[in-house]
Amino acid sequence: MKIMANNLKRQYELYAAEFDQKALDVIHSGWYVLGEEVSSFEREFADWIGSRYCVGLGSGLDALWISFRLLGIGPGDEVIVSSNAYIACVMGITMNGAAPVFVDSDRYNNIDASLIEAAVTPRTKAILAVHLFGQCCDMDEIIRIAEKYDLKVVEDCAQAHGNHWKGKTAGTFGTIGCFSFYPTKGCGAFGDAGAIVTDDEELAQKFRVFRNYGSEKKYYNSVVGTNSRLDELQAGLLRVRLSHMEELNAERNRLAARYSDSVNNPLIQIPQVRPGADSVWHQYVIRCSQREALIRYLNQREIGSIIHYPIPPYLSEAYAYLGIPKGSFPYTEKAADEVLSLPMYNGMTEEEQNAVISALNEFQGFSG
Ligand SMILES: *Cc1c(COP(=O)(O)O)cnc(C)c1O
Repeated sequence: MKIMANNLKRQYELYAAEFDQKALDVIHSGWYVLGEEVSSFEREFADWIGSRYCVGLGSGLDALWISFRLLGIGPGDEVIVSSNAYIACVMGITMNGAAPVFVDSDRYNNIDASLIEAAVTPRTKAILAVHLFGQCCDMDEIIRIAEKYDLKVVEDCAQAHGNHWKGKTAGTFGTIGCFSFYPTKGCGAFGDAGAIVTDDEELAQKFRVFRNYGSEKKYYNSVVGTNSRLDELQAGLLRVRLSHMEELNAERNRLAARYSDSVNNPLIQIPQVRPGADSVWHQYVIRCSQREALIRYLNQREIGSIIHYPIPPYLSEAYAYLGIPKGSFPYTEKAADEVLSLPMYNGMTEEEQNAVISALNEFQGFSG
């Protein structure tokens, strides 16, 4: 039995008839970009998150960079972000000419909030809270520091759709919550898509104008914007996905609980959840100091796995110009050497998960 790390087809098959019908409806409608599907999705997504406004965009990266742009954060400004994050988090900052200021992560793989205050300078304008792998950051501490130093908080919820910190939904803590609907994300589209949520009416309107070449009225352009529009097909298909998000997140929680209850190999550390945080288990990320041997062993059994992420953004070639040396963020670098994401997707069968669990429990390391 071949088990893939992720299986998007399985996720589609769960609601195939609904997706098929919606796709045909949109194709037959004759209206394809920024229409009724988009505005319905925006209203439904905002309601689900518990925000006043949602604005659909072209991708999660667009949500990030346009957020900083519209908050007026650019050259000379600094944004605090976890060193243990996805490259898009950093690009969203640097695309505006602002400087990322990295803070190491803790054992929950999110920013170590106890280290943030020491990273604040007179140039700090914002904290980007990245809820990595589906788990919320320590939002109490992040909001406390933001209020103390008058900083904006932007949340990267690309891996945390419908997740909570102490009962409050990710995306509602800061000024803006950024989402990606890339197909592998918890609320995935069938192509690229993204959105922001906010309670600020004026800001929401700025996003609507900016995403469409800076025009409120066709061919009358008030600012230099961009093309980051959500299309009707993605929005329609996202509405179908959104209507099932509670059961999809519950299923991922069941899959994660089963891994956590059943994997008992001392060579493997299972993921921990911070007290106060929920996880929607975008990834189930274990740690293993013999990771390369484990990957080879799993491959022999036709079990896929993925490393999220092998190189921290500040050590990537793209950011060599920042001049941040290896060794700067010890936890992040150790994670990069040891993390491994197990197969985890909606529609995963018990038989498939059993095969992964048995394999993990039978792994004996180098000598085995
Ligand atoms: C996927 C992702 C993004 C970028 O989203 P795209 O839609 O691929 O542009 C940003 N941040 C995080 C944490 C992500 O996982």
